[in-house]
Amino acid sequence: MIKLFKILISYIADLLFPPSCLLCGEYLDDSIYVCPDCLKKLPLNRNESKGHISVFDYDDGLRLMIHELKYNQRPEIGIILGKEAGRRLAEIIDPAVSVLVPVPLHKKRLRKRGYNQADLICDGLGSELNIPVNKCLLKRVKNNVSQTTLNAEGRSANVKGIFGINKTDTDRSKLILLVDDVITTGSTTKEAGSVLKNTGYLNYFALSIATVK
Ligand SMILES: [Zn+2]
Repeated sequence: MIKLFKILISYIADLLFPPSCLLCGEYLDDSIYVCPDCLKKLPLNRNESKGHISVFDYDDGLRLMIHELKYNQRPEIGIILGKEAGRRLAEIIDPAVSVLVPVPLHKKRLRKRGYNQADLICDGLGSELNIPVNKCLLKRVKNNVSQTTLNAEGRSANVKGIFGINKTDTDRSKLILLVDDVITTGSTTKEAGSVLKNTGYLNYFALSIATVK
């Protein structure tokens, strides 16, 4: 009964507010949030970063998508971004040797948001590139304060010791693609990388949707 009610509500909502593209406002047949044309136009990141790949330039459109994904309960945007990033990376990633590992959230933050945006980005990347996703390899053992108000030095100190490793069947010879939504100073992925390295996962690099400066 509740399910039927929800379907009815979403039907009425679609009639009153037909789904439209988040970026260009074009009406869409389906609730896909962003139209294929806008996705294709997302500019690639032109800056060479040290030690990680950021797929897209952090322009206004991408900023809006990331904001909706993280703060406005739109998990589907993570999948959409992951798939589009996968299409752009198809030629440089070898699925046979790679494993996608999302940067985990602490369970308190996960409970609050209801999902980990990096998990969803991995799901999109994994389905597009045909790469397995291991959501258990890394775990968050400590809840740190949000990085957003900290400078580079504070960020590094704030992430020390926050990750641990779970025993899983991912072979240590695999290339671990450490995935996060955005990278700022890189201190979070650097810390996660050093935990991987200390436990014998020597091949890894960080992959993010964008770099925020
Ligand atoms: Zn559009």
